Amino acid sequence: MKQHTKFYANGQWLPSTGKDHIDVTNPYTEEAIASVQSSSPKDITTAVHAAHVAFKSWSQSSVHTRIDLLKKIALVLKDQQEELGQTILSELGMPLKMTLRVQVAAPIATFELTAKELENFIWEEQVGNSKVVREPSGVVAAITPWNYPLHQIAAKVAPAIASGCTVILKPSEVTPLNAILLAKAFELAGAPAGIFNVVFGDGASVADTLLTAPEVDLISFTGSTRAGKSIMAVAAQQIKRVRLELGGKSAAIILPGADLQKATKATVNSCFMNSGQTCSALTRLLVHEKDYEAVAEMAVTHAKSFTLGDPMNETTRLGPLVSKVQQERVKGFIGQGIAEGAKLLLGGQTMPEGLTKGFFVSPTILGDVLPRNTIAKEEVFGPVLSLIKYSDVNHAIEIANDTNYGLAGAVWGASSDDAFLVAQKIRTGQVDINGANFNMLAPFGGFKQSGFGRELGKFGIEEFLELKSYQMPA
Ligand code: NAD
Repeated sequence: MKQHTKFYANGQWLPSTGKDHIDVTNPYTEEAIASVQSSSPKDITTAVHAAHVAFKSWSQSSVHTRIDLLKKIALVLKDQQEELGQTILSELGMPLKMTLRVQVAAPIATFELTAKELENFIWEEQVGNSKVVREPSGVVAAITPWNYPLHQIAAKVAPAIASGCTVILKPSEVTPLNAILLAKAFELAGAPAGIFNVVFGDGASVADTLLTAPEVDLISFTGSTRAGKSIMAVAAQQIKRVRLELGGKSAAIILPGADLQKATKATVNSCFMNSGQTCSALTRLLVHEKDYEAVAEMAVTHAKSFTLGDPMNETTRLGPLVSKVQQERVKGFIGQGIAEGAKLLLGGQTMPEGLTKGFFVSPTILGDVLPRNTIAKEEVFGPVLSLIKYSDVNHAIEIANDTNYGLAGAVWGASSDDAFLVAQKIRTGQVDINGANFNMLAPFGGFKQSGFGRELGKFGIEEFLELKSYQMPA
């Protein structure tokens, strides 16, 4: 078992002085595959200091230098695709084909696209007698989750570096190995020392030192709403800038006249993607009562087609959940859903047939779910779809918005115009119309308790900049 005992600061791998080791577990074999040593407060202070010192020169670097570095990092990551894929698969359990397509290709694209956005980025504008400029916010503490580990990291690190900020990353303790590979990619790409630093540990052990360090100007966090609240409270003490990408409970609305088959399949696919561990997953399917029976049957038929098993197998479509804790949590939600009156149409709390190991949860469809049920309110983070009936379009909009979250959504109509009219009334950061594709240049982020701030494209770069205006004499 590989033991990682170092953290990355000032362009060097330094021996960690932290006491604890955190095991990384393969969720399919249930075996520990590596361990990572937690960073001590002293280690974190070293990393923060490195980022602080590096900011002085990196913030003054030319846009050309930044573009060049981002492109080089993308090239190094491309060379390491296979190793990255195997590493993320072993920490997370997502099937290899999907891991390569989503978990590896997306972060590489983020580095490439951020470089491209920089080519035309507007840094300065004239407003009356003022010259308005954009300056890097400073030292960034980036804290990331395990579900799309490298993608979430890239969505912060690429635009932060692009803007002229420097970064201390604290990756999820559940999936830290890909972050080590990213730090190595920075080294191979010849990044200046200190612009990107990595510390390890769980949230509680790192938060105190990292988030309260006076040199940290901005905290960019992706994770649960629970942790987001705590981070915001800590940041408030020093009025640090905060960007929060939090949970979701997104709805897909199928309007009468829509292509039921296409809409149902797409919603099941979204809900089960990465075994349901996706913040923007469409986990509530809202169907007109006259279409309900047909859609329920289609959803069950499609969900049955998902093959579960070893993520290394070509034919596996659904891997295990990331951990025992997640598996138990999701099974608990299914039980609660049934106890509150939902009808179990497929799946449930038992281990999927033919599997004896791995943190699996069967693809589950719950019917007759009521908007007030826990399963319709809480983020489940497993392959569990709730079917909810509505009586008319206003009722559907009301149900879709009846949640504390506001991350994503989808509307299916007889025409895109019909669907768009409804989408305008959905209070979320993204809405997909009639199954349109994900766009890596569009702003990604939430309304309400799904957080604030936007990632990706030019919008992601703007999050790491401060506006400054110079009033010029006539
Ligand atoms: P989590 O909140 O438990 O942990 C996320 C990260 O925060 C980890 O690195 C963890 O160590 C750290 N952390 C935890 N508590 C902390 C604290 N009090 N202070 C500082 N750091 C702390 O979330 P998770 O289980 O890793 O990820 C799943 C959650 O992330 C889900 O709620 C999901 O919806 C959300 N998510 C949101 C987006 C988005 O873009 N909106 C994307 C992916 C995941």
